[in-house]
Amino acid sequence: MTTRHRLAGAARVCAAASSLALALAACGDDDPGQTQGGDDPGADAGSDLSFDADPDGALDVANEPDASTCGAEPYEVEVIGTVGLDGSGFSPTLTFDRPECAESTVIIMEGSDLATFIVASVVAPDGSEPVTAELTRQLDPLEQLFLGPFPGQFLSPNRTNSASGAAAALIPNNPDVVAPAGTYEFVVQGGILGNTLQPYTGTVEVTIIHKLQGTADGGVLDVNLFFTGAGGLTAESAPDSALMQAAVSRLDEIYSQVGIRTGEVRYFDVDAGFQTITSIEGPGNDMIRMFARGDGAPPGLNFFFVTRFEIQGAPGGAIGGISGGIPGPPLSPGAWRAGVAVSTEAAQGSSDALGFVMAHEGGHFLGLSHVVEFFGAEDPLADTPTGDAANTNLMFPTQGAGAELTAGQGFVLHNNPEVRR
Ligand SMILES: [Zn+2]
Repeated sequence: MTTRHRLAGAARVCAAASSLALALAACGDDDPGQTQGGDDPGADAGSDLSFDADPDGALDVANEPDASTCGAEPYEVEVIGTVGLDGSGFSPTLTFDRPECAESTVIIMEGSDLATFIVASVVAPDGSEPVTAELTRQLDPLEQLFLGPFPGQFLSPNRTNSASGAAAALIPNNPDVVAPAGTYEFVVQGGILGNTLQPYTGTVEVTIIHKLQGTADGGVLDVNLFFTGAGGLTAESAPDSALMQAAVSRLDEIYSQVGIRTGEVRYFDVDAGFQTITSIEGPGNDMIRMFARGDGAPPGLNFFFVTRFEIQGAPGGAIGGISGGIPGPPLSPGAWRAGVAVSTEAAQGSSDALGFVMAHEGGHFLGLSHVVEFFGAEDPLADTPTGDAANTNLMFPTQGAGAELTAGQGFVLHNNPEVRR
């Protein structure tokens, strides 16, 4: 089954300005909402420029839904199709049927690059609400500042992030969320970010992927490495590059803490024009156009190696990497958010730093939040470290004292369909 991806999203830097103190800052795309200043993901939302390169990201999961093969196939894909959003930016109530054997379910939304999308709410068959817009507590002023228009979803048991152009939600992404089999109701929302959120009244393509084969006892992550020539690396040279091979080994070492090993490692060249990424926001920005060059690659976690990011609000060289989403759209090479961009310059020749950034940003892409955000919010996982100990974790916002992963974080990674048997 193939789904056509027509994405032109604007990626965001996770409060990049706050991470500038460290040259190796690994910055993800997990700013859950609008932020101040040049970091506003909606800053360009008013543009009428529509990027129409139409990358064809193949969702290479040729598995038809069939209860008789439950567990025999890795995935089941439910194409909800084109959904119209009403005058308030909301879809009608949609449904998906989670099979008995599903380990996880991903909702993928793809639409205009002018709009930001989010799963507004999810109601499980048992009546529980893993994702809700309702706030269960008051926000403090810093949270109000950083959480933007979707704080309820961010604070939901199943934390859910918005993203422009394309967004995804992984359910469950927390061991404390019970996700029974059966029919789920959900609503998706589109908005145009500016000083306030305006409803987006266009359409959005909605696709559901149910992961049918569990990988909790050990999984494999294939990786696609895309080279712009940054750092002198090419698809031809990288297999013999001590730096790159040590970085890939470091990635494998970090994820092996939770039983995930690197599978196939594939090498590709992309246009040298992407060596310096000058825009990560707004329609047709550098980063999403680069991610679109992943079209045609087999499924895998896509790492794009650039020299540096030269973007508004963040001096060059300060950003280690950026993820296309939290999570990004899985199993969709060539989709405009299907990738992670990594700076070779920021790693300063250190394979350990390069591998760390790959693992950190890859963690975002697979669905992990920062253990603690710059504005103080902790992740929803019960077993991740807090306080001074938080910097020992891979998902500390900057490279800290370690690259540890907890069992709870392993649960999230195992649930992503990018991780296979
Ligand atoms: Zn990050």
